[in-house]
Amino acid sequence: AERTEHADWDGVGRTADDAPVKVLANVGSATDSTAAVEAGAQGVGLFRTEFCYLGADEEPDVATQRAAYAEVLAPFAGKPVVVRTLDAGADKPLAFLDMGVEPNPALGVRGLRVAFDRPDLLDTQIEAIAGAAQDSGAEVSVMAPMVATADEAAWFAERARAGGIDRVGVMIEVPAAALSAAEILQAVDFVSIGTNDLAQYVFAADRMAGALAGLNDPWQPALLRLIGMVGEAGRLVDKSVGVCGEAASDPHLAGVLAGLGVTSLSMNAPAVRAVGAALAQHPLDTFRKAARAALEAPSAAAARHTTKTTLA
Ligand code: PEP
Ligand code: MG
Repeated sequence: AERTEHADWDGVGRTADDAPVKVLANVGSATDSTAAVEAGAQGVGLFRTEFCYLGADEEPDVATQRAAYAEVLAPFAGKPVVVRTLDAGADKPLAFLDMGVEPNPALGVRGLRVAFDRPDLLDTQIEAIAGAAQDSGAEVSVMAPMVATADEAAWFAERARAGGIDRVGVMIEVPAAALSAAEILQAVDFVSIGTNDLAQYVFAADRMAGALAGLNDPWQPALLRLIGMVGEAGRLVDKSVGVCGEAASDPHLAGVLAGLGVTSLSMNAPAVRAVGAALAQHPLDTFRKAARAALEAPSAAAARHTTKTTLA
């Protein structure tokens, strides 16, 4: 009954009643960026910078990093791009860093935690990102992975701003960070929820373990509840709450996420068109209603089913 004429994706992410929900792409290379522009993405919500480090025997210097990032940013000149700082450590070891052996790599020194011991690594990367922003003309923000507390968010924001980055955010992918979203949002300009890791840590279920895929399902109501808490915290201070995990690429779930207060969705390029079109099919209130039903569902399957019915 509420369907509108937006039968397809016109390149501007919004609900049928014009509530903006940006449709962005996840990229990790210049090839990804080109594909994302062709798909009509409004910008980049997650640029994974790991590629620059993971094969390297020595830390790549500022000029090397700057050139590599600028190549990925160039197709998005004049558009927003969120660059994520290095998300390595533990199961993604760096050849030039001796990080020791950890019995539980997913719970170890990874993401931003690497920078607490080696802040010089972060400062070098920030300098390279700021340079690549100038070279490419993209509207660059940076965000940190694996942040657990508001303190960590503030520490990162201060360093990034000192390095010349104006817009700073952090990922919400540790349950403690979701529970501290209001405090974290006092320290940063935006947050982006990494549903892949957030699900893994909420359900105590290794994201690589196929046998546990049912728990790592982004439709799990407990995960949606946490996302809703972050969305509400963002709404209260009028700061952007994104989702950049796999959850963002499911067109039905996209509406539910918008209903939970998420204001940008970042996904692999092939999903852009379908997600943009799905958002345009209903007004925000319908997505809020769908979100409430999904939150109350007893299982991921039931949440998926009730949403499909509500949004049919
Ligand atoms: C996530 O955890 O959801 C995420 C987007 O980051 P990555 O998949 O790179 O860990
Ligand atoms: Mg992650």
